[in-house]
Amino acid sequence: MTQSKIIIAIDGHSSCGKSTIAKAVAVRFGYVFIDSGAMYRAVTLFALRRNLIKDGVVDEQKLIKLLPEIKIEFRYNPEKQKSDTYLNGENVEDEIRQLPVSQNVSPVATIAEVRAEMVRQQQEMGKNKGIVMDGRDIGTVVFPEAELKLFVTASAEIRAQRRFDELTAKGEAVSYAEILQNVQERDRIDSTREASPLKKAADALVLDNSNMGRDEQLEWVVMLINERLK
Ligand code: C5P
Repeated sequence: MTQSKIIIAIDGHSSCGKSTIAKAVAVRFGYVFIDSGAMYRAVTLFALRRNLIKDGVVDEQKLIKLLPEIKIEFRYNPEKQKSDTYLNGENVEDEIRQLPVSQNVSPVATIAEVRAEMVRQQQEMGKNKGIVMDGRDIGTVVFPEAELKLFVTASAEIRAQRRFDELTAKGEAVSYAEILQNVQERDRIDSTREASPLKKAADALVLDNSNMGRDEQLEWVVMLINERLK
């Protein structure tokens, strides 16, 4: 059967370039791109602003109660040719990428009620297909029927170096050691949590991009998509 539009699920470890691949694929096929991590980051920013996180411990009951007050949207920014993340009408795209959010997002993402709400919204976004979503549980939980599932990874050191380069290019004063520790800690929490842990779906294809350039990865993924659209 010829498919006109498919769902592409891209999961994998932190900072391994999932969003970069997903974005490029979306542009190539005219698909919607959703960075599901941005949604967990926005919830984390909300919790930080409400003082619901102290020393890495989240006041889960209060956050769960406030979930209906959290509205997350993606709005296209023509200048950047990508979508920005909005939290209750405010553009928080830059703030959710900064270290305070990165350091607290994994504990927030372990909360089953937070996940249930995010998954509900993500499934709604994908109901017409033609979507590329990246995250940790997209192929396993959000879209188990996705026509193409990728599991992206690279060594922790290479991922930390990439994030370090990205943040220092923006003028942020960060240390490589701190970032490596954050990457390793997020891997640990994401892989061992009870609710939807990060794991490769049985039918996902592995993309280890430790030694691969962007173009090479994109061409491989484009080939896989074209095979499924035939
Ligand atoms: O993808 P990114 O690194 O921005 O995601 C931030 C965090 O959100 C991850 O470390 C993970 O804890 C959580 N996350 C998740 N499930 C997803 C996407 C992200 O648990 N689908």
